[in-house]
Amino acid sequence: MRLSACLLIKNHKVYRNLSWGRFRYLGNLSNILKLFSQQGASELSFIDVDNSLLDDSFRSLLYRCVQQSDYPITFYSSDTGISTHARELISGGVERIGILLSTQNSSTTTLKYLVSNFGSSTISVIFNLERSDLLLCSGSMRLSDSVYSLVDQIFHSGVREVVFQDVAAIGSCTGPNVHTIEALLANKKSLLIYGINGGVRSMEDVTMLYNCGFDLVCSGNFLSSAFMGDNVLPYFPVAEFNQYIALYNSDALHHPASSHKNETSDECDTCLMNSSFSDFRKIGRYCSYCLDFMVKREQVSLQQSPSRLNQLISSIKTSRPKNSEYDCVVGISGGIDSCFVLHHVVSQGLNAIAVSMDNGLNDSTANTNIRALCNKLGVPLYSHVIDWAEYSEMLRSMISADVIDIEILYDNACQAVCYNKALELNCKFILSGSNTFTEGMRPPQDMSWHKNDVKNILAILYRYQSMSGVSRQRPLTYPFLGPWKRAYCTLYKKVQWVKYLDYINYNKKDALQLLVTNYHFVPYGQKHFENIMTRLYQGYILPQKFSCFKERWHLSMEIISGLISREDALNIIGAQQTYDWSRDIRYISDLLCMADSDFADYIQRPQIPHDHYASDIKLLRILNTIYRTLQKHSLHRSF
Ligand SMILES: [Zn+2]
Repeated sequence: MRLSACLLIKNHKVYRNLSWGRFRYLGNLSNILKLFSQQGASELSFIDVDNSLLDDSFRSLLYRCVQQSDYPITFYSSDTGISTHARELISGGVERIGILLSTQNSSTTTLKYLVSNFGSSTISVIFNLERSDLLLCSGSMRLSDSVYSLVDQIFHSGVREVVFQDVAAIGSCTGPNVHTIEALLANKKSLLIYGINGGVRSMEDVTMLYNCGFDLVCSGNFLSSAFMGDNVLPYFPVAEFNQYIALYNSDALHHPASSHKNETSDECDTCLMNSSFSDFRKIGRYCSYCLDFMVKREQVSLQQSPSRLNQLISSIKTSRPKNSEYDCVVGISGGIDSCFVLHHVVSQGLNAIAVSMDNGLNDSTANTNIRALCNKLGVPLYSHVIDWAEYSEMLRSMISADVIDIEILYDNACQAVCYNKALELNCKFILSGSNTFTEGMRPPQDMSWHKNDVKNILAILYRYQSMSGVSRQRPLTYPFLGPWKRAYCTLYKKVQWVKYLDYINYNKKDALQLLVTNYHFVPYGQKHFENIMTRLYQGYILPQKFSCFKERWHLSMEIISGLISREDALNIIGAQQTYDWSRDIRYISDLLCMADSDFADYIQRPQIPHDHYASDIKLLRILNTIYRTLQKHSLHRSF
């Protein structure tokens, strides 16, 4: 497979197209060529969007650079630019020349001339699918008939290489358009697709195109933005791309029988996600969720290095103010991930304090595990016990509101106690067990709500109080973390929440073994089953009331992380369906002073969306964008 990095020439300079109308200047042309070569690009394409080719000094620069580079260059420009300078470009070392499709007649005439003078293999054509006359815009954008006749004419003129730029512009690559192009060009062996813009989803699209049998898939823009976001300048991660394709290739293309086995089924062949989740799409043996997850894992592991971990550790150490006793707060739930974080940070010489949140619903094993670990490590443990009367009332309010994310209470309090402790102790780092390796799969939309939406929690609570005639007697002691407090901690006090395990080569199986051997850690069975409420919520309430099979999402991550086989995961799902939940239901109902019939009634009632109640979701989304941007920058700044 050929992989071509594709860059834009504008105003005699090299740019990367970030998104429609947003260009980023990439710097010196000769450096870029060297860099891409080092990164493994096999070729490079330039699209001259403003006819810079007509400028003599630009052409001299181009030829100097091309002669120094050790891989083929394709140069696309206007009809006029290419036909005027074709001979010069080729003698200057440009391997292939191509025209940016402008008008039908002039293009095909030029193409015939070029093919007869320079041979088919030297000539290429680019379709810019953002051109409205090439698209039918009825509802969703579709290719117009003129594209088909144009493509036919182009091939007829002897050209063997046609590039479709910006496939994203015709909508999803899995949609009918790509298949129509595929069918139309079934016998044309050199169709290229590139210029797919941003986002990891594009990788899925590329895989799909690859699967459709296109000879070559190439892009520069898209690869850079898919892997590195907007921040990184010249970067063409060929190795990652090849790995991705190889993965897909070996598993899917070489086993066509299995890749088509489940074509009509609504479940992924690799993980447990299915069409009950929003945005689910099958891609060969994989699905949009697990492919996306694999790419993220790859990204994180590519960033890992001992020096990056050392940098983080030294940043944490130096961030500690003189009057502070601790380097960092470690949020600990009692699960394998967070317990291993505590073990690891101590081994790195950090002076940590463990912070846990006890809502009264933790399995006693979790508390025993946490205490045993802290005792052996000599790490002080601060356990914030939530006022049960308050917490149970809040839980009842969530239940009566019929909203999906009951766990918002637990998660908000967990974050809040960690931030509170960090502020109190003047710590700049909170290290958590959340990580990309075992839990980085994109959560399906509508499965959860924003954890910092305190306005929503309170609206639901006050509604419940007024319905049940309870007067608010005293201020709440629940440790809320709302948008403004989070912004205060993050932006003003500069407290960083770090996914510590993303910095180390984390293997959950080994971690469990280590915890069992060194700290007599007692495993819980399934993830998050250290908490009875969580167990009942995920195993029973979500599937029964909300038709949401979150367990499938969790188990899918475990499958991809190699922690469990797909077969075993399916067995767990099966066992859950036959599990006798009555003991957990009785336990939780008793705790919340609910009658059995109340609980049954709750399960039957329809779901009500969170934003049916007052909410800060818009503000939280804006803040999230800010945090994400800051995080991206910090990745490239100090650690
Ligand atoms: Zn999948």
